[in-house]
Amino acid sequence: MNHAIRVHEHGGPEKMVWEEVPLPDPKPGEALVRQKAVGLNYIDVYFRTGLYKAPSMPATIGMEGAGVVEAVGDGVTDIKPGDRVAYAGALGAYAEARCVNADRLVKIPEGIDFTQAAAMMLQGMTAQFLIRRTHAVKAGETILLHAAAGGVGLILCQWAKHLGATVIGVVSTPEKAELIKGHGAAHALLTNEDIPARVKEITGGAMVPVVYDSVGRDTFTTSLDCLAPLGLMVSFGNASGPVAVPDLGILAAKGSLYVTRPTLNTYTAKREDLVATAKDLFEVVKSGAVKIEINQRFPLKDAAEGHRALESRKTTGSTVFIP
Ligand code: NDP
Repeated sequence: MNHAIRVHEHGGPEKMVWEEVPLPDPKPGEALVRQKAVGLNYIDVYFRTGLYKAPSMPATIGMEGAGVVEAVGDGVTDIKPGDRVAYAGALGAYAEARCVNADRLVKIPEGIDFTQAAAMMLQGMTAQFLIRRTHAVKAGETILLHAAAGGVGLILCQWAKHLGATVIGVVSTPEKAELIKGHGAAHALLTNEDIPARVKEITGGAMVPVVYDSVGRDTFTTSLDCLAPLGLMVSFGNASGPVAVPDLGILAAKGSLYVTRPTLNTYTAKREDLVATAKDLFEVVKSGAVKIEINQRFPLKDAAEGHRALESRKTTGSTVFIP
């Protein structure tokens, strides 16, 4: 017996249907995972609405989970039945059991439970590549971060502080401002403030070398205005809608700026990068420097409730579904 949340047509959370689906047999190279927890990510909203397209419909949405291997297909040698595993970036996660390419799985180390693993793989590995590789955050730097109380945001706040950076976080409510201050942000700005003016004041006119912007359409230009000359704009999400490619002259006018639109897929495409990224994440969490805050839990069959909460900006930190 197996159940999944499937989307037969794109639209609102009401399009997510809990239904009986076949228990899949692992094909060569795959492992069947009995899931103990599934992570909610903003990308799930994009696949539900149709901003991002699944290869076929109906689609089981969801990209991240953790559980126990039940069976493996031919050629799988590193992973065996009984192993505790987790993954991110594999469409089809909103299911009680599902198959995943074994080379996308990592073993969960001792000291990390299934819900923590499901909450951290996608958001935590994203935070890892953003502050270690897209721009290697250095001690003494001041960085600007949008949606700082969210899943990726709350991890970034803590990790950047751990690396010695001064974090300026932007959030939409005073409650979220308090939350990020308790998680490493030195400064909490509200979305209705004049963000470039506040950044100027905080940095004594220097502005910041890097902005991490996952809000997208609503904040793109504001973010450019917060950068120091030669600064890097990291546009890594579209919570308010996608960013249209600007006239590149704007980058010259605002100080020879750089822009990148990175994804976790690229940064973990090679197996060795996936393993190294996950290892760095597990270590910083086990050390206590970064806490994975699971502030919302829902039964998997009620995943639509999670989507409603996420899209109405009511969630903070990470959200997990329990099958
Ligand atoms: P969050 O928990 O950060 O939730 C989204 C937050 O964005 C909200 O809480 C809200 O915070 C803010 N926001 C601003 N404008 C809007 C809007 N119009 N509608 C809804 N929310 C808005 O989500 P995740 O941590 O799952 O993901 C954060 C972002 O990172 C997403 O854009 C996601 O696509 C991106 N991402 C990108 C990856 C990549 O590989 N490039 C990988 C993982 C995530 P507030 O109320 O404080 O403004």
